[in-house]
Order: sequence, then C-alpha cells, then structure tokens
Amino acid sequence: MIGQTDTLVPSLWDSAKSASLDPVAELVYASNLLGADKRITNFGGGNTSSKVRMPDPLTGEEVDVLWVKGSGGDLGTATRANFASLYQDRVLALEDLAKRRGLQEDDIVALYNHCTFGLNPTACSIDTPLHAFVPFSAVSHMHADAVIAIAASKDAEKLNQEVWNGRMGFLPWKRPGFDLGLMLRNLIRENPGIQGALMQSHGFICWADDWASCYELTLDLINQAQEFLDRSPQKQPFGESITSRSSDPKKVLLELLPELRGKTRHNGLRQIAKVDTSEEVLEFVTSEKLGSLAGLGTSCPDHFLRTKIRPMVFNEGGDLEASLGAFREAYGAYYERCKRPDSPAMRNPNPSVVLIPGVGMVSLGKTDQEARVTGEFYRNAIRVMKGAESVSTYTALPEQEAFDIEYWLLEEAKLKRQPPEKDLSRQVAIVTGAAQGIGKATAERLGQLGACVVLLDINQEKLDEAVEGVKATGASALGVVCDVTSDEALAGAFDAATLAYGGIDIVVVNAGNARRGTVAETDPEDYRLLDKLLMKGYFDTIGHSVNLMKRQGTGGSITVVASKNGVAVGSNAALYSAAKAFELHLMRSVAVDHAKDGIRSNAVNPDAVVIGSGIWNDEWRRQTAASLGIQPDEIEAHYRNRTMLKVDVTPDDVAEAICWLANEKRSSRTTGCVITVDGGNREGFLR
Ligand SMILES: [Zn+2]
Repeated sequence: MIGQTDTLVPSLWDSAKSASLDPVAELVYASNLLGADKRITNFGGGNTSSKVRMPDPLTGEEVDVLWVKGSGGDLGTATRANFASLYQDRVLALEDLAKRRGLQEDDIVALYNHCTFGLNPTACSIDTPLHAFVPFSAVSHMHADAVIAIAASKDAEKLNQEVWNGRMGFLPWKRPGFDLGLMLRNLIRENPGIQGALMQSHGFICWADDWASCYELTLDLINQAQEFLDRSPQKQPFGESITSRSSDPKKVLLELLPELRGKTRHNGLRQIAKVDTSEEVLEFVTSEKLGSLAGLGTSCPDHFLRTKIRPMVFNEGGDLEASLGAFREAYGAYYERCKRPDSPAMRNPNPSVVLIPGVGMVSLGKTDQEARVTGEFYRNAIRVMKGAESVSTYTALPEQEAFDIEYWLLEEAKLKRQPPEKDLSRQVAIVTGAAQGIGKATAERLGQLGACVVLLDINQEKLDEAVEGVKATGASALGVVCDVTSDEALAGAFDAATLAYGGIDIVVVNAGNARRGTVAETDPEDYRLLDKLLMKGYFDTIGHSVNLMKRQGTGGSITVVASKNGVAVGSNAALYSAAKAFELHLMRSVAVDHAKDGIRSNAVNPDAVVIGSGIWNDEWRRQTAASLGIQPDEIEAHYRNRTMLKVDVTPDDVAEAICWLANEKRSSRTTGCVITVDGGNREGFLR
C-alpha cells in the first residue's frame, strides 16, 4: 500500500541500522526519520517516547525509565540530549498526589523535575503524561496534516470510524496536559484493541511494543487518512476561484513589504518578512472560501502559537494603515474577551500572517527562521482546511481554548527563558563589495550580531564563499551578484533584499577600487572606473537605501567606507583621494538631509589595510610599490611601520567600527561622524 502515490509517506526504516542501536539511540533514530518528513509532523511539532528498563544509578535495581522528547526543538534534528528521562512509576504516582493535594494542571508540571532519572537536565514536554499513561513501550504523537484534517472536521468522531475502522480511539478536544494523559489511559482501558487515538483539532497518538512497529504504524495511519482524502469526489474544497491572479505579483509585494514591515513594528521592534507565492497558497488566496476559512482561524495548537488566532487578509491596492488598525482592534478585543486574571500582558497585536488575494502570503517573525516557520505553519493550516473541506466542514478551536493556549503561563515562561536577542536581530543589512576584504569581514560581523545579511558583489565565486561565511555564524544570508555601477543591477539587488526579508535597516557602502595617478597622468580608463565605482556607485547605493528606508518609515543606518585619503590626500592618487573626499561629503549631506527621517549616516576612514584586502591584489599594489620606490612584497611592512601604533590594520578592525556605527543600540546618537581605523596617522586626524 505504502508509497503507491506521491501523496503517501514511504517507509525508510532500516532494520539493520536499528538493530545496532541501544534503545534510546533507536528512539532518536525513529524520531529523526519521522521529523524529517513534514507530511508526518510539522516543524517543532509532535513528540516520541520509549519506556526502557535501566539500572538505577543509586541502587543498581532495574527500573522503568520514560525517555520522552524534551520541550522545544524539532524531531527531525533531535539528538539524545533533546530527550528527557523520568522514573515512569514516579510520573504515574503524580495522579494520586494531585488528587490528595488538589493540584491544578500547571502545578503538576512543576513536579516533573522531581521525577528526573539520571540527573538528565533536559526539561520534559508538556505532553509527557500523554506518553507515560500509554502502557506500551514505543509511543508516537504526530501532527500530520492529513490526520489533522480529519481531526478538525465537524464530524471528526464519525470520520474516525470511517477512516480507521476501529484502529483508533477518539479523544475529544482537550488542552495538552495531565488530564489529557488520564483521558487517554481511560480510553485505552475501555477499548483494549485500539492502536492509537485521534485527538480532536490536534493530531493523533499511536503505540506499539517496539519502535519498528510503532514507526510503521505511524505511517500506516497517516497514509490511511491521506488515501481517504484523496478518494474524496470534492475536487474544489475551497470553492470556485474568484480572484484572478495578479499579473505582476512582484510589483505588488515590492510596494507592500517595506510599508508592512514599518507599520507592524511593536514597541519599536521590527520584524523580518517572508514571502510565499506557491501554488498551494495561491489556490487558497484566489478562492471563494478565503474570507470565511481565514476568518475561522487555525486549529492545531502548534500552528496557532505562531500564526496567531487568524491571519489578516489584505487586498492589493487597499489601505494598509486602515486594515492593520482594524486587525489590531479585533485582536485587542479578543484579548479583552478571553483574558483571565493572571494572563500575561497582550503581545504584539499585529498580524503574523498576511494573505493577499491573487498574490500570495507574507509571514512575519523576529528572525528569518521564525518568519519562515510561521509561513510553513500557515501552509500546514491551508492543507488541513483543504482536507477537512474535501470530506466535511472545517472547524476551528473555540476562541477561549485558542486564547488559553496562546496566553498559557507555561508558554509565557518558555518565552521568558529564551536567550536574549542579539543586538542586530530583526534587522536587515546590505553590504556592497562583500566578497572580500572589509566587506566580507563586515558581513560576517553583522551576521554574528544577528542581522540578516544581503551581500552584493561582482565576483560570483568569492561571493558564494562569503555567503557561506555569514551563514556559518548562524545568520541568514543572501548573495546577489551585482555590479553597483549598473542602474539595473543595483535596483534589482535592492528588490531582491526586499523580497527576501521585507526591507533594509543597515547599509554598508563599500564596493570600490583604487588607482594611482596624478591629475595629468590619470589613465582615462582608470578615471571612468573610479568615477563609476566610488562616486556614482556610492551615490546610487545611498539613494536606493534612503528611498527604501523612507518607505519603511523606521529610520536606518548608512555607513560609508571612505579612506584616510578623503582627508589627507595621498600623493599620486588624485582621483582616488578626491573621490574619497566626495564620499565623506556625501555622507554628511545624507546625515543633514535625512536626520528628519531617522536615518543616521556615518563613515569609517581606514588606512593601510593591506592584509586580506581586495584592492591590494593587483594594480594598486604594483603602482603603490613603484610610487614608494619599494618592492611589492614590502608593502605590508611599509604600512605597518607607517602607523603610529606600529600595527597591522585588518578588515576585522574596520568591520568592528562599521558595526558599532550600524548598531542603533550602541550609536543611536551618532550621525555625520567619521571613525578612523588606521593604526594612528596624524595626517589622517579629523579637525
Ligand atoms: Zn501535539
């Protein structure tokens, strides 16, 4: 049966491999296989467990240990360290204890720590009782879209019988926790033959005596649901297509994204935006049922923590301010209706998912990854709604239940435990000339500080390497091959940045080159090169940046990489020196003209950056050595000795100064400023 059509999930179990693993390693293996296929469970969703006989470290006596996926993280990439271990009998004993002491759900959670086996520091999941109370050793709880489609159907209980014909019991909707575990135990006691249970509006859980069987069972149950959905004669579950597809979706998005990003700030915090114009999304956002289904909200609790109770639908050409105002008002009203005396304060009332009929979807989050996962979750929701509407009628969670999950105190505690955000998190940076030298070092440093980085360079091969370097810092990065002297290429690069992240906040204008020559002897080719790169290139890059920043309305930081030559001319470098002075004055003009827009404009004046620099590779090195009357390989020592501090100046040194200027948390009161990074050069002092 399995794998007959491409909608079904194929088995990837390797018996030889599993036989070589200890029981916990086998649990990790099974979890990774299950989590790797998003048709089996959504990102970060679902959990798995094994009950293993192990010697107690203190007494040596064999005891039952529950190994269960810990809180947070994704099954697909989970390791042993992501699993909690608990004394099974102590977890079960919590039932009596809770009764005797009259403990509430959230009080019991605090007691799980006291059940820890083997000093394992991994916090267990809120679903731990769901696993503990199943009297089988291998247990799998998944959020498969095909199964949730049945679980979120109006007649889920009836469909449960039709699809699985008695293999699965039925658990009516209940928020995850201890009571849900007890409900499941009772269900199994009353229906001894069942192999799993459909969890209304949530997902399913199934079990077996060993993991090979539990893995195959998990897939089999999902495939039965998928086959049932595939058999439906309803070929238009979302109704007729009533909105035509935009002839130029890119144009619509380029107009919308910066404004959306600017207007969805909350407490001054920006968001990163991701775009999805896939066929799956388009089918939904052009359909007759878009308005009614989007209004119902998502169902699976995991989806909904990220996607919010419902998305905003925004029509191309509409009034964004008014739409967002209405959305925030409705969200505030929902908060007021549902809040409890001890509820956490209202969070960002802006939408995290925006659906644009005929165009696609935009998802928002504090990082690129969070925005992407939010978008993925809404695609899960679209699949669930489509499946449910193809066999029945989709139903969402009751509003109060949804609220209680969104504002669960335990979730709030989890949010508070997250590591503090990095300085440049939520920000998008563009660096020109980013493939080597100062540009490359700066891009990496911006990545370390948490920014999403767009790297522009003319050299594809070196650019790819530099992009990998930024990604290695854990940041999101995009490389765009771009000749900054081409109007078309530069405009295209800013569009690419906008489509990738929603806009820009930080710009480092760096792409340059250098040539020697007095005014009388400058080669006309050299003149054209420097004119285009150092003057027009800087001018246009800043022009695009200012325009985009103004459309966002959230200010920004522009840092110009100039040179000591901008204040102290070098001999035999007439045009280079003049161009660097031009850049400094341009920077000052931007500071003066756009302070009112919250845009800060600053510069760094590096000098003697020879090591790791792109411009010292060829012509400039030879010409400079000739000017100085030394050999090309004596350049490094010459420049080191010329500094007051007798030090090498590296691209990393310059990157540090640039990132301080770019960082509004550090330098928000600084604009029109030049920082020298030259090892000390009295000619280069600013006065
Ligand atoms: Zn779940």
